[in-house]
Amino acid sequence: MEQTLSIIKPDAVANQTIGKIIERFESNHLRIAAMKKIQLSQTQAQDFYAIHKERPFFNDLVQFMISGPVVVMVLEGDNAVARNRDLMGATNPKEAEKGTIRADFAQSIEANAIHGSDSLENAKNEIAFFFKAEEIL
Ligand code: GDP
Repeated sequence: MEQTLSIIKPDAVANQTIGKIIERFESNHLRIAAMKKIQLSQTQAQDFYAIHKERPFFNDLVQFMISGPVVVMVLEGDNAVARNRDLMGATNPKEAEKGTIRADFAQSIEANAIHGSDSLENAKNEIAFFFKAEEIL
């Protein structure tokens, strides 16, 4: 069993597609082990995406991530990290495979509906960024 971190981004929360996205996880053998709706602060968004701080889109990404509430979740299941990335689709929704979350719910390469950890190691760090052990059930 693996755990991975998922974030429903501000665009998908504003578009009221939280339920439709969660349905994708639950119908594809990913269990919601923890979940909360939060408003990220600028510092939190900068820290979470620190790996991208040299990228030209970093400031835009941070502004987008604090533009409204997000839903953060711990998903659990066999191969949860890779399974979640498959369900999400490519970063750019124009390149995302048909039937993926980004193909169906994302607007652009920036406002792309969902975040998912890209490795088991990052998943552990990202889960600890948002959740205490006792909040994961
Ligand atoms: P992911 O793992 O598929 O989310 O993609 P990355 O780790 O490469 O990028 C992190 C996030 O930065 C993406 O999900 C997008 O929201 C945003 N992003 C990536 N590339 C671009 C870009 O070229 N322009 C802008 N504005 N945002 C981007």
